[in-house]
Amino acid sequence: MGDLKLNHSVKNGAVSRLNPLDPEEFRRQGHMMIDFIADYYQNIEIYPVRSQVKPGYLRERLPESAPVNPEPLEIILKDVQNDIIPGITHWQSPNFFAYFPSSGSIAGFLGEMLSTGFNTVGFNWIGSPAATELESIVMDWLGKMLKLPSSFLFSGGGGGVIVVTCSNNFRFRSRTNSLVLMLHRRDYLSSSTAVDPLGPLCDVAKEYGIWVHVDAAYAGGACICPEFRHFLDGVEGANSFSFNAHKWFFTTLDCCCLWLKHPSALISALSTNPEILNNKATESKQVVDYKDWQMALSRRFRALKLWLVLRSYGVTGLGDFIRGHVKMAKHFESLLAADKRFEVVFPTNFAMVSFRVSPLAIPNNEDVNEFNRNLLESINASGSAYMVHAVVGGVYVIRLAVGATLTEYQHVTMAFKLVQDRANALLCTY
Ligand SMILES: *Cc1c(COP(=O)(O)O)cnc(C)c1O
Repeated sequence: MGDLKLNHSVKNGAVSRLNPLDPEEFRRQGHMMIDFIADYYQNIEIYPVRSQVKPGYLRERLPESAPVNPEPLEIILKDVQNDIIPGITHWQSPNFFAYFPSSGSIAGFLGEMLSTGFNTVGFNWIGSPAATELESIVMDWLGKMLKLPSSFLFSGGGGGVIVVTCSNNFRFRSRTNSLVLMLHRRDYLSSSTAVDPLGPLCDVAKEYGIWVHVDAAYAGGACICPEFRHFLDGVEGANSFSFNAHKWFFTTLDCCCLWLKHPSALISALSTNPEILNNKATESKQVVDYKDWQMALSRRFRALKLWLVLRSYGVTGLGDFIRGHVKMAKHFESLLAADKRFEVVFPTNFAMVSFRVSPLAIPNNEDVNEFNRNLLESINASGSAYMVHAVVGGVYVIRLAVGATLTEYQHVTMAFKLVQDRANALLCTY
């Protein structure tokens, strides 16, 4: 049996002879890891959603130095269970409603695994032709799903690339010598999921020769649904567009999709040509070398997981997942509406509800922001759900973002009951 072999070799200090990529051992430990993760998903609701540990908790539990001798995975996984999981905030929990979703999926997970399995470094085409070509293909597929103008697709003279994060996209701006208008206003937009009208903004920017980048990090994916596509009206006037497939598009972190009308602007700012990378394919100018589209040289084969997600769920499946979340957010909104003590502060776009206990419900002129702050802390300290707040125009709101893949109606209903119970308890103290 595999584990006898491992224990035996550990005992005899003969582990150096064990190849760290031994296929049979990989199979054995890989299955063990999958079982561990499947059990985690199955039991995820037993853990407090927001980790309840105190800063520095882990140093008290782990040894001061790395082990001198090899340790078996069985023991390591026990420590994951006992020491790491308490310090995990469970983003995959169906009761996770904080920040923005990080919606995982089997396809995203397996795609990540496959990409890690190949462990290629596709900085240029020859570094792994499939990595480059698949990336260009899935970016065109996705661009078509979003009905982006063809000028953003390779087939129309533009092109797409998968980058690590949306925030990083425009760090190159100082190197391109062009002005970049960030249609970003992140604090406000991320707090409220408001969307700027793109057409008029692009018109003004054009007059001044300003580069317009549309950051649709959270909700861009929802625009594959015809009923949300209007949020992208006017995008044809922009120079670039991005959204995070790792937020609300069932692709594990990280996978930010960026399209440009004129990739040459990016390439002239970012390309590097050290001698070691020179090759015939590049010289032929027939290929994309994605290293020239990003700051770093190394890059992972991220297209594989996006490809698995698109193929495993299809346009219909993905649209249905997103619509399901939107409906659950509406459900939460209707529960709030039925209790006059609550108010929805911003109109609910997509699957995020911003609400608070209304000033009218709070006795004795207590500070309404302070009351809602206490309410949120009480909700999160319960461990039964996790939400975060935003402050917009001086108004403290609690945000409930539906988007965890495991979330069902019952979880949203329970979240509302929790909010209501905690609000009742707080109101009793006045
Ligand atoms: C989430 C979010 C970001 C952050 O995206 P990263 O890819 O993590 O940098 C940026 N902008 C908006 C509007 C967001 O919602």
